[in-house]
Amino acid sequence: MKERGLLIVLSGPSGVGKGTVRQALFAQEDTKFEYSISVTTRKPRQGERDGVDYFFKTREEFEEMIENNKLLEWAEYVGNYYGTPVDYVEQTLESGRDVFLEIEVQGALQVRKAFPEGLFIFLAPPSLAELKNRIVTRGTETESLIENRMKAAKEEIELMDAYDYVVENDSIELACERIKAIVLAEHLRRDRVAPRYKKMLEVE
Ligand code: 5GP
Repeated sequence: MKERGLLIVLSGPSGVGKGTVRQALFAQEDTKFEYSISVTTRKPRQGERDGVDYFFKTREEFEEMIENNKLLEWAEYVGNYYGTPVDYVEQTLESGRDVFLEIEVQGALQVRKAFPEGLFIFLAPPSLAELKNRIVTRGTETESLIENRMKAAKEEIELMDAYDYVVENDSIELACERIKAIVLAEHLRRDRVAPRYKKMLEVE
């Protein structure tokens, strides 16, 4: 029997650059994981293709997929539905290949419940780390603006709790490297590797 693939989930706050990092990752030849194409009810943007960027559906079609348990997770984001087709994920993992999801945070929480063994990566805005520094050094922000920023930052940090790794998106290239390093390390975990060795030696 083949070893099951890894389910890799990249998520993070809106506007952090998840889509850009995902596109950069999949543009690299040595990226071995399979991208799970999502279903959405939003209209295609210029240049987007059905079955490549998304599966574009009507709300009725999407709701039917929810009813028929065809989605591993789904969320409504800025007035549109987005969801992950469960069959593709299951079949690909079963065939031994890794699956990569790039989804917003509500969906990631649902996946965590269904697949606690998944690899959950939080993409963090560099502004989070720079925030305090900037606030202190700049001294030009109004008090209420600072408060708003701090509140938003705190909420973002709280979101991290559901993840295994945090990757700062200070540079797209570095973010991709970090994600690949995490996936590589995950494949080398003793609990994943040991069964293979034991089987080789045919010991219990
Ligand atoms: P966009 O409309 O810009 O392509 O995507 C909007 C947001 O939806 C992004 O944060 C993206 O990560 C998220 N998204 C894309 N596909 C899915 C999905 O299948 N499920 C969930 N929950 N979010 C998704």
